[in-house]
Amino acid sequence: MELPSSLEQAENIQGDIVSWRRQLNSIPELAFSEVETAGFVRARLTSFGFGVDTVAETGLVAQLGSGRILALLVAMDALSVAVPGQAQPSVMHACGHDANMACVLGAARILARRLRERSDVGLRIIMQPAGETTLPGSHQGAEKVISAGALDGIFAVLGLHVDSTIRSRKASLVQAAREEVGQSGGTNGYKSADMVTLLRQSSEEILGEANVSLVSRITYADDFGRYLERQPGAMLYLGVGLPGCVRTHHAQDFLIDESVLHLGSAILTEAALKLLEIQPRLIG
Ligand SMILES: [Zn+2]
Repeated sequence: MELPSSLEQAENIQGDIVSWRRQLNSIPELAFSEVETAGFVRARLTSFGFGVDTVAETGLVAQLGSGRILALLVAMDALSVAVPGQAQPSVMHACGHDANMACVLGAARILARRLRERSDVGLRIIMQPAGETTLPGSHQGAEKVISAGALDGIFAVLGLHVDSTIRSRKASLVQAAREEVGQSGGTNGYKSADMVTLLRQSSEEILGEANVSLVSRITYADDFGRYLERQPGAMLYLGVGLPGCVRTHHAQDFLIDESVLHLGSAILTEAALKLLEIQPRLIG
């Protein structure tokens, strides 16, 4: 019997992914205050079968399985944004971290089923507090996650960030920087360049080759780069820009095309299946 593809499985839970995003969108919390957010995400991950621990104050580390462990990582924090005509700034998910979390929850749910077939591989989900580096004092999220040992025992880390400046149904990947430790090979001999190649292949399979680009810019706003100093990894920038309506991140009118979030779940799922060799590996 042929298993449904990563895309088909993600399409099947598209309604849930959008619903999770909307629920997370309704409880925006600033850096190191992501208490309700953590509670919501913890409940979902627990229901998928993951064991969940608190890390770095308000963050979460969830794991299913053991052995060769791949990590998927996103940030949880919302932003304080000035609103014209309003005396006080508003706290809102103006960078899309609600959408990022929903995409990773989707992948975690699909992968949980596949992981039960294997006893030699594991998946770790890291929900990081304080991902934004643009706010003074709120950029220690990655450092706290790393010093708490959340990366210990993993062989690679994949991240996802929605990008409203990229049209929906398209995606970008950032070329691996030369100074990254992963460049010389991590514990499994993987390099960040391999992670970028694999995430790109998975993106091309889901979105079509013409819709995936490789860019040279450095990881913007968030602090994902800190992880790449420690582990091989790559970040997917998922296009969520509505046609004819380009909105910038960190602005009060930030808006995304949430109907494509399942594509992010599908790409992460596909990349994870390849990396964990649950399907034939395509690299190395
Ligand atoms: Zn962000």
